[in-house]
Amino acid sequence: MIAIYIHHTTSFISALEIFYAQLPHYHPQKSYIESQLKNIKTGERGESKVFRYLEEVSFKEPPIILRNFIAQVHVRRVIQIDLVIITRRYILLIEVKNIAGHIKFNSVPAQLIRTLPETPPQAFDCPFTQLDRNLNGFSTLFPDLQLPIYTALVWANASATFDFSSQPPHTFMTLKRLPLFVQQLEQLPLVLPDNEVQKLQQKIITKTQFFQEVPFSKRYKIERAELLEGLFCPTCHSALKRFVRTWVCKVCNVKAHELIALNILSQFAIHGPVLSISEIRKQLPEIGADAIRKVLLQAGYAAEGNTNARVYRKKIEG
Ligand SMILES: [Zn+2]
Repeated sequence: MIAIYIHHTTSFISALEIFYAQLPHYHPQKSYIESQLKNIKTGERGESKVFRYLEEVSFKEPPIILRNFIAQVHVRRVIQIDLVIITRRYILLIEVKNIAGHIKFNSVPAQLIRTLPETPPQAFDCPFTQLDRNLNGFSTLFPDLQLPIYTALVWANASATFDFSSQPPHTFMTLKRLPLFVQQLEQLPLVLPDNEVQKLQQKIITKTQFFQEVPFSKRYKIERAELLEGLFCPTCHSALKRFVRTWVCKVCNVKAHELIALNILSQFAIHGPVLSISEIRKQLPEIGADAIRKVLLQAGYAAEGNTNARVYRKKIEG
């Protein structure tokens, strides 16, 4: 039995793609956001594989599994954990890597060296160091935990081969081994009563939700004036062009009518949860107010305030 909560939705990722496209090429944050996007996308692929294996576990009590737990430890420190499993018996922090090739783990300096045939070796940050940092950050965020915390590095790429220079500092396993490992943790004694674990799960979800709802412009400290105006393609990041009565992406060679709505709705993830039509038009001046209003109402946004100061906000479902 698996309960899945927070993870990056498709709309979150396409909004970040559009935000990236709105940044001019010379912007100092451009390459940083590009790397964030790349991490999120490769991470998503590895994590989806992990989910399929977790379905094999028979959990004694329904757990909460958070995908991509991301939270602010303090002003200059953000931690990102691929998967967090919270049960009444334990907490498991999982780091997922999806890298192919021959993988060598060096301890001094802590580094991961990947070698592919006929390619020079490539160094990556050590995932064990990342687990150390995540464990430390998680314990700082939730100092009074009664549950034992376990950590694991899970390798999602089935073709990789490994070479360890010393004993790994955290549990390491390939994906196939994960269900057995979690099944063993299920043998641990019950620690928290049901209502206590629910409170804790809620506390942990709230931490990451709060961070994920911070609009991109605030999260990456970028002013509206620094962004390019216009509609962009989330696939190739080029500007969409008006063509007869619709829009096209000339690079992807597709009609882009549905990308108009995506561009409009992404403005909320970029600038904030409450926007007026004129604020949206500052970024998308070529789209008329009526067309924007129609998209917002269709997407479940509701108007607030009087005629002179009308703003739109997503209606809460359920
Ligand atoms: Zn395109």
